Amino acid sequence: MWSNDFNQKTIGSKDAYGSEPTFNLDQVLACPACDLLIENKPVQPGEKLICPRCDEILLAPKSNSVNHSLALALTGLILFPYAVFMPIMTLDTMGIENSGTIFDGIISTWHTGYWLVAVILAMTSVAFPLIKLFLIFWISLNLKRKRIPGYLPQLMRIYVHSDEWGMLEVMMIGILVTIIKMHHTAHIHYDTGFFCFTALMLTALGSSLALDKTEFWRQIEHGRIQG
Ligand SMILES: [Zn+2]
Repeated sequence: MWSNDFNQKTIGSKDAYGSEPTFNLDQVLACPACDLLIENKPVQPGEKLICPRCDEILLAPKSNSVNHSLALALTGLILFPYAVFMPIMTLDTMGIENSGTIFDGIISTWHTGYWLVAVILAMTSVAFPLIKLFLIFWISLNLKRKRIPGYLPQLMRIYVHSDEWGMLEVMMIGILVTIIKMHHTAHIHYDTGFFCFTALMLTALGSSLALDKTEFWRQIEHGRIQG
């Protein structure tokens, strides 16, 4: 798939004169929503290539995608331990203070017997976001250094499939619901973990949005062919 042969495959059948019409696969795009084949025109950052049949956005290049993804993923990785292991908030109920971290929440859910919920919580709020940030960081770093190791296409595939598995936003909604429900019964102090978790959620979201998958695949493919 990564050899030059990939780009020289032809599609279509012989015409009335017996010659075989050839299309370079780089010059056509298939709409993922309606399968229409569309000419792959160069699109500049800020512009969009839209399917004329169903209005699906096919290409929306982002400027400086590698640098932005790298910076945001690195920031997310630095924030990660603080967001998970620092207290999120302290609840003060009639002088009795209770504070907890995301990690404490997972452990106490496990001890209350809801082990399946604890595992899902650990996977969606810690493991998957961490794996996703690390993948973005590692792939961007390699593209920035213009080094394309043989395993990079596989890492990119894992990233593309894991894209929908990080659920920091859902966890954030859970925290906000707790704050709203406890607002009248307890005095709430926001701790370091709350701000780190909010910043982590925004940087994780930002790194996913900054990553231009088409451009990343193009650079990986180009690097593999060159290598
Ligand atoms: Zn379409």
